[in-house]
Amino acid sequence: MNPLPPEARLKARIAAGGPVSVADYMAEANAHYYATRDPFGAAGDFITAPEISQMFGELIGIWLADLWRRAGRPGGASYVELGPGRGTLAADALRAMAGAGLEPPVELVETSPVLRLAQAQRLRARWHDDVASLPGEGPLLIVANEFFDALPVRQFDMEGRELMVALDGDAFARDGAVETETSPYSIAMVRALARRLAAQGGAALIVDYGHARPGTGDTLQAVSRHAFADPFQAPGERDLTAHVDFSALAAAARAEGARVFGPVTQGDWLDAMGLPLRAAALAKAAPDRTEEIAEARDRLAAPERMGRLFKAMALVGPAWPEPAGF
Ligand code: SAH
Repeated sequence: MNPLPPEARLKARIAAGGPVSVADYMAEANAHYYATRDPFGAAGDFITAPEISQMFGELIGIWLADLWRRAGRPGGASYVELGPGRGTLAADALRAMAGAGLEPPVELVETSPVLRLAQAQRLRARWHDDVASLPGEGPLLIVANEFFDALPVRQFDMEGRELMVALDGDAFARDGAVETETSPYSIAMVRALARRLAAQGGAALIVDYGHARPGTGDTLQAVSRHAFADPFQAPGERDLTAHVDFSALAAAARAEGARVFGPVTQGDWLDAMGLPLRAAALAKAAPDRTEEIAEARDRLAAPERMGRLFKAMALVGPAWPEPAGF
């Protein structure tokens, strides 16, 4: 690891070579952030859907197993997850898939050594730095929850000039007003996945917060200790995210031959996948947890909570059946 913390490194870099793009700033900050901590949960900075309830990962596992079954139970399928965090979603999804007779090898794309360790405690898997080294044969059953929002965005002003991060005295400062954002790294990643789905079969479920139509303006945000913070302070110590532009990801996937379903809201997708039934079954099996289960269900699906801002979108290989829930 680089010995300098990212704040000092970015300052040295700007002092020596001039301002860096917002995308470079975000990439450097997040690489350090994720490499050095487990950010999830009450004691951390934020909480994600799989950490709220096992129902989230289970319904994703059921979704994948259902598609695989209707595709004719092809051999050689792999479970692939991008940015698996603590491995909670994968553990829940794999348990549900095993119940449906699907027990694929697990391939995790994860750059953080700390989170790789956490994942290794729960999962038998192989790890990848990038999607390029994923298996080249057999269908890929791909999941990405709150992954694309962590990838760097480029920002541009009204004249189309790329915005840069400079130093104003000792503080970081962006040098203009944001009109548009793009995430070339996300687009490249989706293109690579869609190419695999077209060639190998399989499907990808992308769940993230963002907009269905191309948006305008600044969506870069920082979260620390469950509260919004200034993205241009303490780089590497706060989680930097940007809204996912689902329309851009959909166009990239179609261009590589994948079929695209959605995006629909997370609430609609979970309800269509049977969240109310799953919650009722869990509560019946553990009556003392009834309130907790109802609260988790509400948090995941209610429009004023995660249900509307978060969206689900599926990419499907051209010869694969239509996915459930869209
Ligand atoms: N999916 C998990 C974690 C979301 S946080 C959940 O829902 O709880 C983002 C995850 O993506 C972390 O595991 C982080 O280490 C990983 N990550 C961020 N940037 C990455 C990159 N460029 N390549 C691979 N993994 C990355």
